[in-house]
Amino acid sequence: MVAGWFTEGGDGSGFRLLGTRCSACGAVFFPREDAYCRNPGCGGGDLEEVPLSRRGRIWSYTDSRYRPPSPYVTNPELPWEPYALIAVELEAERIVVLGQAVPGVTVADLAVGMEVEVVPGVLYEDTGTTWMTWQWRPTGVAG
Ligand SMILES: [Zn+2]
Repeated sequence: MVAGWFTEGGDGSGFRLLGTRCSACGAVFFPREDAYCRNPGCGGGDLEEVPLSRRGRIWSYTDSRYRPPSPYVTNPELPWEPYALIAVELEAERIVVLGQAVPGVTVADLAVGMEVEVVPGVLYEDTGTTWMTWQWRPTGVAG
């Protein structure tokens, strides 16, 4: 599951992905790495939680026509809705973050270099429970 991978911004700061940053070398990890720095050239430092940039640029994208594997939760009794899967480069962190496009956005709407921003989305719902995830929404700024 995706607990601890984002903050809903209840303090007014807005929805943000959460990664961790090594205090020794400055490398940023998403999904968050809490055990040890994965930079092979680093002696290892403390890993601190950091909110990631809200916006990035599309590095690549694809149509996801199949049910995603764990840790994504899907209801096997519902028809699978294909969605656009986007890899977004965050310039400040120098990492690429995968995510779904917001509903209604297809690969025909996307281009490499296009600016997108992270927004909350619904991963899965059943009676009484809603699991949230992050999604990428084009900002209207071309590449
Ligand atoms: Zn490090």
